[in-house]
Amino acid sequence: MCGIVGAVAQRDIAEILVEGLRRLEYRGYDSAGVAIVDAQNHCTRIRRLGKVQELADAVNAANVSGGTGIAHTRWATHGEPSETNAHPHASGDIAVVHNGIIENHEALRELLQSRGYVFESQTDTEVIAHLVEWELRQSESLVEALQKTAKQLEGAYGTVVLDRRDPSRLVVARSGSPIVIGFGVGENFLASDQLALLSVTRRFMYLEEGDVAEITRRSVTVFDGQGQPVEREIIESNAEHDAGDKGQYRHFMQKEIFEQPNALKQTMEGRVTHNSVIIDSIGTHAKEILSKVEHVQIIACGTSYNSGMAARYWFESLAGVSCDVEIASEFRYRNFVVRPNSLLITLSQSGETADTLAALRIAKEKGYMAAMTICNVSGSSLVRESDFAFMTRAGTEIGVASTKAFTTQLAAMLMLVAGLGRQKGNIDAEKEAEIVQAIHELPVQIESALAFDKAIEALAEDFADKNHTLFLGRGEYYPIAMEAALKLKEISYIHAEAYAAGELKHGPLALIDADMPVVVIAPNNDLLEKLKSNVEEVRARGGLLYVFADEKAGFEDSEGMKIIKMPHVHEITAPIFYTVPMQLLSYHVALIKGTDVDQPRNLAKAVTVE
Ligand code: GLU
Repeated sequence: MCGIVGAVAQRDIAEILVEGLRRLEYRGYDSAGVAIVDAQNHCTRIRRLGKVQELADAVNAANVSGGTGIAHTRWATHGEPSETNAHPHASGDIAVVHNGIIENHEALRELLQSRGYVFESQTDTEVIAHLVEWELRQSESLVEALQKTAKQLEGAYGTVVLDRRDPSRLVVARSGSPIVIGFGVGENFLASDQLALLSVTRRFMYLEEGDVAEITRRSVTVFDGQGQPVEREIIESNAEHDAGDKGQYRHFMQKEIFEQPNALKQTMEGRVTHNSVIIDSIGTHAKEILSKVEHVQIIACGTSYNSGMAARYWFESLAGVSCDVEIASEFRYRNFVVRPNSLLITLSQSGETADTLAALRIAKEKGYMAAMTICNVSGSSLVRESDFAFMTRAGTEIGVASTKAFTTQLAAMLMLVAGLGRQKGNIDAEKEAEIVQAIHELPVQIESALAFDKAIEALAEDFADKNHTLFLGRGEYYPIAMEAALKLKEISYIHAEAYAAGELKHGPLALIDADMPVVVIAPNNDLLEKLKSNVEEVRARGGLLYVFADEKAGFEDSEGMKIIKMPHVHEITAPIFYTVPMQLLSYHVALIKGTDVDQPRNLAKAVTVE
């Protein structure tokens, strides 16, 4: 779930490993550790609870030398966060780091205990260390021992093994958690995310499911799940080296909110002319596939689920294609019915979201006409396992609370909707041009939304001392309200809920009092009059209202009601526009509360466990 870094080099690699972990810090973690072997086969293992800085200080103080090593940031799944449960875990001369979950760890633990192994930690990971130690006794090589071990492991893992007696190599296995190998000159590296290695290399190779690889200073040998040697493609990465820097911003989340105009430009690049969508840019065979689509099934989790919920309105109202959206962890465990000619779309920032990936794998067996992913990380599992991928190109997103990944997903889906509607004959050239022109206006519109930063900062004071907040919207603004509530929960720890405004009187109206601010998203659309009635329902019960309203919507400040007048924007792209003030609101409330904005408690960035 969390971060892995490894290196086989001639130079001392302690700093490289720690720097790699720092670059993975954004994923959220609770402890960290390294194991480094020097040329005299002396192994130093240091683990610390808390931030990578704690580990960095300890590694510095110990003056660790050695050219071969493994490092890990842990996001505990089995056993509390503690130094003893932190990775690397050891068994005799073997040290191991692991991302993911070993589901049959209990049975393996019993087996290994019966063989005399004594467990130090409560983790599932420790079984890997003892199993490798055991298998190595009856194997010719460390690779063979790991291959034998991998056959006995059930669950999801990326794992790296080090043998103190032979610092010339590391071995690594991938099954369900990403592993990338980085090629240097006379030295090689590995990590769970290429971001960790961008300061040492640009040449990467992604392992595939079931692969086991051996890495030395001069060679990388990969074996597939059947133990056959295989070649995996080496790619040259053009990811931004400084993606891990906050620059002028106080937090990554803030930086990413302000990057949205640019991120959206990148999402559009090469995909739209001034008045149409370039269908081929959506994916190979997109034209052929889209013209046959009769139904769209979206699967996602968290923020991506909210963007799917918003896009559903567009799929039906603009493209005229029925659309269902479901949470991946529900979808994967129920018997669902596949509609004829249904296109499956998975949404995920990381492309490694475990539930979404599992849902994709199940769905692929069930007869969807094609599986498409809308994703931000190239080379990720969802991208590789889908029939085609539409990359959001938002750039690296580090803040755990997703911002630019959400708005770029929406923009990508709007382009898809325009293309789909056109292929289906439900959108004519004129309507397509209208949608595309609205998309072109987005970066400038978002700049104008960002200009509300100061005004929203002042407003945030009213929320920071409250325990609850209600967000209201109608139509596609209901999912935007859901996303606003999720953001506020995630980073300020204030309980927040979103309601379709028409649902108020069916329950939540009972909650209204002066202690629960009610935020309303009020664009100037067909539902405005209905929404106004809902606002009155709250006002009549003494609720405190904050209405983000289109300047032409006719709202004015009054007792118990603050109006934030937003510039009028095109109705089609307005849901994307209104997302931005909601992001700023949660950000400023969190700042006042003094929470850890980029790494909110209990949360992780890429949720690679179910
Ligand atoms: N399941 C392992 C543990 O709890 C690994 C967690 C992780 O991926 O960080 O230690």
